[in-house]
Amino acid sequence: MAINFRYPGPTPLPPRVREALGHEMEPHRGPAFRALFTELLEMARVAHRTEHDVLVWPGSGSAGWEIAVVNLFSPGDQVLAAINGNFGQRFADVAKRLGLDVRRLEVEWGQPILPDQLRDALKANPDVKGVLLVHNETSTGVTNPMQELAAVVRDHGALVLVDSVSGIGALPLEMDDWGIDLVMSGSQKAWMCPPGLVIVATGPRAWAATETAGYPRFFWDMAESREAAKKGMTPTTSPMTMLYGYHAALQLIHEEGIENVWQRHRDLGEFTRQAVRSAGLELFAAPGYESNSVTAFRPPAGVPASEMLAIMRDEYRVEAQSGQAHMVEQIVRVGHMGWAHMADMEEALAAVSATVAQLRSRTAEVSAV
Ligand SMILES: *Cc1c(COP(=O)(O)O)cnc(C)c1O
Repeated sequence: MAINFRYPGPTPLPPRVREALGHEMEPHRGPAFRALFTELLEMARVAHRTEHDVLVWPGSGSAGWEIAVVNLFSPGDQVLAAINGNFGQRFADVAKRLGLDVRRLEVEWGQPILPDQLRDALKANPDVKGVLLVHNETSTGVTNPMQELAAVVRDHGALVLVDSVSGIGALPLEMDDWGIDLVMSGSQKAWMCPPGLVIVATGPRAWAATETAGYPRFFWDMAESREAAKKGMTPTTSPMTMLYGYHAALQLIHEEGIENVWQRHRDLGEFTRQAVRSAGLELFAAPGYESNSVTAFRPPAGVPASEMLAIMRDEYRVEAQSGQAHMVEQIVRVGHMGWAHMADMEEALAAVSATVAQLRSRTAEVSAV
C-alpha cells in the first residue's frame, strides 16, 4: 500500500508533474524554453490574480522573506511584523537579522491577526513603511483575514507584504483587488511541485519602492529578474527541471480553474474538520479562521503528538506532521493542499479515528489495571 503523504509541505506530486520533471535538457536561452517560461509566467499571473509581475528563482520559500527585504527597504527602515505562529516569527527574525527596525504585533498561537489589532499597532508605530503578513500560518492551521488586513495597511499607506507559501494555489488570494504589493511562495506547498523554487509576485508600489531601496543585492535583484523575464529568461541559468514541473502544475490549475481549486480546498478543509471533531478531537485554530490547506488539532489528552503520528505512520501508512517550536508535541497537522482529493482525506481521517480508538482503549486498559 502506498503511503498517504499528508505533510503540509512538501506535498504529493501529480503524475503530470512527475513526468514533466523528467524532461531532457535543451538550450535555456533557446526559443522552446523561452516560450515555455513565458507561458508559465502568464499562468502564474492568472493564479495570483495579478496583471503585474511574477518572478521565479531557484530557492525555497524562505528566500522570499529576504527578497522582500532587500528589494523594498533600506537598512534601518521600520516595518511591522504580524505574528501568530512560527512562520510569522521567522519572517520577523529575518527582517531583523538583515537590519530592519522590526516592530511586532504578536497574538497567541491558534488565534488570527484581527484588523482592529493591526490598526492599533499601526497607530502606535506611525513610521512603519511595510507590514509583514502571513496569509496562512502553516504552523497552527490558521488563515488570517488577508483582504481586511491588506485594507488596513493600505489605509496607513504602508507596503503590504504577504507570505502566502501555504496559501496561494489553495486559498483565495486576489493580489490586485486586495491591494497586495508582494506575495511570496514556494513550489512544494499548494503548487504541487518538489521543493526548489521561490515565487514572488510584485505590484507597482513594490516596484516604486525598489527605486530607493538601499540594500546591496545581486542574486535576489527583482529588477534584473524582471528584465530577463520579459525575454522569457532568468538572469542566471534557469532551474529548468523545476520550471518544467511548475509549468505542468500551473497547467493543471489552469484546466481545473483557480476558483474550482479554491472550492476543492474548502471542501477538503470542511471534511477534515468534521472528521477530526467526530473522532472526539479538538481543532487548534480559532473558530472561523481554520485553514483549508492544513488542519491542526490536539492529540487525545495525555498523548504526545509524536506517539499519535507513529501509530498513524506504522499501522495506517499515513504520514502527518507534528507541531512546530514550543507546540511540537501539542498538535498534529494534516495537510490537504495541492494534489489532494477527497479519497485521500477519507483514508487519512479514517486512520486518525482508528488511532484515537486504539489510544483510548490502551488508556482504558491501563486504568483498569
Ligand atoms: C513552508 C513555509 C515557509 C518556508 O518555506 P521553505 O520552502 O521551507 O523555505 C514559509 N512560510 C510559510 C507560511 C510556510 O508554510
